Amino acid sequence: IDAQAYRRRVLLKLSGEAFAGGGGLGVDPDVVQGIARQIAEVVRLGTQVAIVIGGGNFFRGAELQVRGMDRARSDYMGMLGTVMNCLALQDFLEKLGIDTRVQTAITMGQVAEPYIPRRAVRHLEKGRVVIFGAGMGMPYFSTDTTAAQRALEIDASAILMAKGVDGVYDSDPKTNPGAVLFDALDHAEVLARELKVADATAISLCMDNKLPIVVFNLLVEGNIARAVRGEKIGTLISR
Ligand code: UDP
Repeated sequence: IDAQAYRRRVLLKLSGEAFAGGGGLGVDPDVVQGIARQIAEVVRLGTQVAIVIGGGNFFRGAELQVRGMDRARSDYMGMLGTVMNCLALQDFLEKLGIDTRVQTAITMGQVAEPYIPRRAVRHLEKGRVVIFGAGMGMPYFSTDTTAAQRALEIDASAILMAKGVDGVYDSDPKTNPGAVLFDALDHAEVLARELKVADATAISLCMDNKLPIVVFNLLVEGNIARAVRGEKIGTLISR
């Protein structure tokens, strides 16, 4: 292992959509099991892994708002959706023998610990995976912004942002076959070009605090381990 490139503590951001597989809605256990396997691989190699999961496979506040719901209330629905994803991933990680703790920004004592940053760090030091649920606990935020904030607070060396495509493109590769993949970008370029990788709040928080983001394809087996080893995959957003 290249000690220079090897990342000791990372924040892995998974989108809710990834959990649905092809289905679009809900959780596909086979898919979650595959993701859990990739995570277990890097935990066994000694990397400390914290995870933020989105909730797009259940509800997105902005989409419900368009259909007439109150934004804040639908955002809370979105946050509750993320917790179901956390429990699904926790289950498959524990079946693989990986100790995990779920910590949520909205307290729900029966299913998860409350978010306590110093306790999260302690779990990580003991080799447990910590999964952060319910986003920031606040409407109008995203789980990408949560990933940035949690990464900073627990002192992760990078956000590993897992996507269903190879990295950041100049246009949507799903609709434009000529879309060009970037190897590297800085945060300011992502903002200026309005590239669809994360919302502006998340990117600017990373920019202000010099936190790198590795955007890579989760569907390629072993990619989480490659990102941890600092191999050149996907797009690196850094200064
Ligand atoms: N959400 C929120 N505050 C947060 C994080 C999430 O209100 O701090 C809500 C918001 O409605 C969002 C939904 O939870 O649409 C699901 O999260 P997100 O859209 O980030 O999930 P992803 O797109 O990564 O699956």
